[in-house]
Amino acid sequence: MKRIAVIGTGYVGLVTGTCFADLGNRVICLDIDAEKIERLKQGIIPIYEPGLEEMVRRNIQAGRLTFTTSYEEAIPNSDIVFIAVGTPEGVDGEADLKYVEMAAKSIAEVMDHPIIIVNKSTVPVGTGDWVADIVNRHKKNDVPFWVVSNPEFLREGNAIQDFLNPDRVVLGSTDREAAEQVAQLYLPLRAPIMVTDLRTAEMIKYASNAFLATRISFINEIASICEKLGADVKEVAIGMGYDKRIGHHFLDAGVGYGGSCFPKDVKALAHMAALHGCHPQLLRAVMEINRDKRREVVQKLRDLLDDLNGKTIGLLGLAFKPNTDDMREAPSVEIAHLCRREGAYVKGYDPVAKETARKALPWMEQAADPYELAKGCDAIVILTEWNEFKHLDLKRIRELMRQPIIVDGRNIYEPEQMAELGFVYRGMGRGYNG
Ligand code: NAD
Repeated sequence: MKRIAVIGTGYVGLVTGTCFADLGNRVICLDIDAEKIERLKQGIIPIYEPGLEEMVRRNIQAGRLTFTTSYEEAIPNSDIVFIAVGTPEGVDGEADLKYVEMAAKSIAEVMDHPIIIVNKSTVPVGTGDWVADIVNRHKKNDVPFWVVSNPEFLREGNAIQDFLNPDRVVLGSTDREAAEQVAQLYLPLRAPIMVTDLRTAEMIKYASNAFLATRISFINEIASICEKLGADVKEVAIGMGYDKRIGHHFLDAGVGYGGSCFPKDVKALAHMAALHGCHPQLLRAVMEINRDKRREVVQKLRDLLDDLNGKTIGLLGLAFKPNTDDMREAPSVEIAHLCRREGAYVKGYDPVAKETARKALPWMEQAADPYELAKGCDAIVILTEWNEFKHLDLKRIRELMRQPIIVDGRNIYEPEQMAELGFVYRGMGRGYNG
């Protein structure tokens, strides 16, 4: 049993704290958002993440998980302190480290015994040393501390499973003993644990996300070529994936990546590279292809409707991916704005991202279900591959629409079947039907 504090109760911090508590540790989760902490104390979680609420409640009841806004309460009572605050995109594409800086200062000011500070946030290479420097400058005594980098690889929507069954745990530190102490926490997970230096650990996170984003942009570029040449990118991806060197993951062509990680992390890595005299040409192409994909969806609508002015467009799926309510950098947000700018009336439906949609697109009407969304639409655009969209009564949808046009930004339907049902259907990279 270890005494752990987790700073920041977002997707990563709350899942980390709750899972460590579930593994038998005593965890204090801290956030500066007092309202969030009040709700968490009652077992109400601020995000949609399957299984999390039940796990939070169970660990609160067992007395292993508590919540606070007070660093004075959290730090003196913990031996290992995880920083899991946000690192959003800054003005020039660099990662904005103001929350990490605030957290490091706050820890330093109340530190009264030796602690290990673990950076779980995704932070630019060199941040571990910078955090050590901040703590050294702000601590009020000479108690020792160690900084460890422990990047997180969980995916929203599958966060608990990912946390408890990681492909690997990466730990970086200048102090092997400190890294070993953090490694102890992960031993029950029986995952490979890699111990390396601070900067290498920080880079592993960026390189991993950039590689996954590259796979998506790669298959999306292939999709554009397929569309011109009459090939079907879905079949192409299956055929490629059988090659063990390639594999099937992350080869789904569509409207591109979004979310709180890939866009900002690819940008931050390119920024870091350029700052140090490198020419990140591949990363730039990855971002450019991703941006173009969103615009391509709107171009498909223009091609089919002549003019978007006065037309009603229904967005089916608003979250950046299924099983989450997160709409940060979701393609739906940009596409909604682009359609509206051209005079279209835009409405949307998502089974979960309702509150987040109200905040991200306050002007947009939200339908109660996919059928209400379809009513009077000149076109529907599918932007999230929620499972429930794969089993809709499409005949009913077609009858409710003003024009039977579907642009499938996630390739969840088959062009031939859609044609048989009487739809004018456009997927992404689906050959002559595309
Ligand atoms: P988030 O925005 O959901 O949550 C961050 C939380 O930190 C917020 O609740 C905020 O109030 C709190 N906070 C900010 N400053 C604070 C401070 N000084 N003291 C205490 N709390 C503070 O962020 P997230 O999605 O959980 O991401 C956190 C980090 O993990 C980021 O660096 C992100 O890139 C990385 N990451 C995210 C994911 C993901 O899927 N979301 C996956 C892997 C890594």
